[in-house]
Amino acid sequence: MFNVNSIRQDFPILSRKVHGKPLVYFDNAATSQTPKQVIDVIVEYYSKHNANIHRGVHALSQEATDLYEQARKKIQTHFNAAKSHEIIFTSGTTHSINLVANGFSNFLGKNDEIIVSALEHHSNIVPWQMLCERTGAKLKVIPMNNEGELVISEFDTLLSKNTKLVFVNHVSNALGTVNPIEYIIGKAHEVGAAILIDGAQSSPHIKPDVQALDVDFYVASAHKLCGPTGVGMLYGKEEWLKKLPPYQGGGEMIAEVTFEKTTYADLPHKFEAGTPNICGGIAFGAALDYMNNIGFEAIAAYEQELLDYATKELLMIDGLKIYGTSEHKTAVISFNLEGIHPYDVGTILDQQGIAVRTGHHCAQPIMDYYNIPGTVRASFSFYNTKEEIDALVSGVKKAQRMLS
Ligand code: PMP
Repeated sequence: MFNVNSIRQDFPILSRKVHGKPLVYFDNAATSQTPKQVIDVIVEYYSKHNANIHRGVHALSQEATDLYEQARKKIQTHFNAAKSHEIIFTSGTTHSINLVANGFSNFLGKNDEIIVSALEHHSNIVPWQMLCERTGAKLKVIPMNNEGELVISEFDTLLSKNTKLVFVNHVSNALGTVNPIEYIIGKAHEVGAAILIDGAQSSPHIKPDVQALDVDFYVASAHKLCGPTGVGMLYGKEEWLKKLPPYQGGGEMIAEVTFEKTTYADLPHKFEAGTPNICGGIAFGAALDYMNNIGFEAIAAYEQELLDYATKELLMIDGLKIYGTSEHKTAVISFNLEGIHPYDVGTILDQQGIAVRTGHHCAQPIMDYYNIPGTVRASFSFYNTKEEIDALVSGVKKAQRMLS
C-alpha cells in the first residue's frame, strides 16, 4: 500500500528547512533525492568494504568486487537485459551516449544519416553532431508540434536506407512528453538502423524491458533514480558491444599489453577502463532495490495524481502558460507567467523554500521552437505531496503579485 507519509520518512533531506521554510523539492527531473536505505549502503561501503576491485586477492577487494558485480546483476534484472555483461557502468547518461557515439566513428561515412528528435537534451544532440563532424554523416531531426510531441509522420519520411542510427529520449526532460519509442524502435529496425533510447527521464517513472523493446542501446543515470551522482549505465545488445571499439584505454579494460600490441578484455570490462565509481555502482543497485520495493506502477499512478492536481491548480492562475500539453506525460510541468522572466519566478520560489529549475533545461531547440528564453520547471516525484503543490501554487501567485 503506497503511503507517502511513511515514504517521506526515508528521505532525511525532506525534513530540512530552506530560508527558514520547509523544503519543497520540485527539481526531481534534475536530480532525485536519496533515501536513507541508499545513504546507509554508502556509509557501510566506506566503513567496511572500501578497496579496489577485480585485482586484489585480499578479502576487502573481493568483498567490494562481489558487491559491485551484484549491483550489475540488479541493474540487469531491473532493465531485463539478457546478460549481465550487456550492462556497462558509466559515470552517467552523458558518458554512456558519448561511449556509443565514439564507437560509431568507425562505422559511418558521408552518405550515412543519423536521426535525433527535436525534444532532445543537449547530451543527446552534441555527441552526434561531433560524430557527424568526424565522419561526414548527416544529422536529421524529427520535428515537434505545439503540444510538445514529436511529429511522427515526419519521422517516417526521414527514414531511408541511409539511416544508420536513431537516437530519441523516452521522456523529454524539458516538457515531460513520453515519446512513442516502441513505434520508433520498430521503424528504425525496418531500415536496418541501430537505435539508442535515452532513459534518463523515463527510468524514474517507467520500468523498461530492454528485451521486449528490442532496443540496441539504453542509457540512464543513477542520480535520477534515488541513487548517487557520477554513476550510470549503458545497456547494449551483446552483438553491438562486441563490435564497438573501446572508448577509453587504461587498466581493467585489457586482456594483455605489450608495446607491440594490446588485446582488450571481454565485456563488460572492455568499456570500463580505470578504477570506477565502486561505491556509486553499489549504491545504484541499492537505489533500484528501494524503488522496486515501492513498485514502479504505484510510483507512476501516484505521480500521475500529482501531475493532474498540479496542472489543474496552476492553470487557474491568470497569465500562466504550460508548455508541453501532451496527454502522454510524466510528472513535469514547464510553465511561464506572462511578462515575467522564469529566473525571477524561480528566485521568489526559492525564497519560500521551493526548489524548481529555471532556464532552457539543456534543451535550447525546444525553447527556440516556443520562442522563449526558458521556463520554470516543477518536476514531481513519488515523495512529493499535494500540500507541497499547494505551496507551489501560492508561491507562484506571490511571485506574480511581486513581479507584475
Ligand atoms: N538526457 C536527458 C533526457 C536528461 O534529462 C539528462 C539529465 N538532465 C541527461 C540526458 C544527462 O544526464 P547526466 O547529466 O546524468 O549525464
